[in-house]
Amino acid sequence: MYLYLNDRIVPKSEAVVSVYDHGFLYGDGVYETMRAYDGVVFMMDEHIERLRRSAEMIRLLLPKDNDGIKQAIYETMIANNRTNAYIRLTVSRGYGPIGLDPDLCKDATFVVVAEEMKDYPASMYKNGINIIIAGTRRNLREAINPQIKSLNFLNNILAKIEAKDAGAYEAIMLNFKGYIAEGTISNIFFVKDNIVCTPSVGCGILDGITRKIILDLAVREGFRVKEGRFKTGDLFSASECFITNTTLEVMPVRKVDNVKFTNGDITRLLRRAYKQEIRAYIANVKSSGPSLWGYQ
Ligand code: PMP
Repeated sequence: MYLYLNDRIVPKSEAVVSVYDHGFLYGDGVYETMRAYDGVVFMMDEHIERLRRSAEMIRLLLPKDNDGIKQAIYETMIANNRTNAYIRLTVSRGYGPIGLDPDLCKDATFVVVAEEMKDYPASMYKNGINIIIAGTRRNLREAINPQIKSLNFLNNILAKIEAKDAGAYEAIMLNFKGYIAEGTISNIFFVKDNIVCTPSVGCGILDGITRKIILDLAVREGFRVKEGRFKTGDLFSASECFITNTTLEVMPVRKVDNVKFTNGDITRLLRRAYKQEIRAYIANVKSSGPSLWGYQ
């Protein structure tokens, strides 16, 4: 297996960073997760744009321009001969002496991993997953804005530990005011009175790229959508629930705490529409001719 480290492809055994890297010392950095289908990275521009936004929000200068980032991603896929890949792009503040001052680090550390993307078991999509409402609250926007996709992940990990303790797949965090925010690695949706509902960005969430696509698709399919502030009671009285992210896509939820959801019609419809959206995107990229980076 090969990784991209800073400016070149290296074997996994050589892909190491210093213990003085501020990503390691302080979680000072940002990242993105992407998924490649059939040699095409889905929504690559949107992910790179969000990486750039995260970096700007922590005043981190990305060491590459957008084309340089794309090239690094495709080189990593090609080095590993992967067309269906789980891609993780990590940029940390870099190597520097101990101390919080970002200026202690001269160069950011840039890493691309392209691992094999194995589909999740079909049974998960068929039966749905169990999730819980965590006691851990989502970071306050004014503390660490969840719109920064940062390496500082303890907030989410604390909620994930709660999920594990409860035997659940995912934990949903509420914000400091008690409104539903998001999962540890996902956005949450529910359907109530045929309205597709999801917490607004103002609740303090990461504005998921999958979330945006689902909102657009729901409108296109003729549903009313509502981005707003919701309490757990709204979720518990919903008819359907699902979570979204780049790798899970649209994952039905069977149970939140002890509340069961039996109907999944709209979830299934949106999942199919999302799959279709991916196929159309890939076909569109491929039909636009050989690219500098792609597998054509
Ligand atoms: N919220 C959090 C906290 C996440 O880590 C993720 C995964 N990146 C998401 C939401 C979903 O975002 P996306 O659809 O862009 O993968």
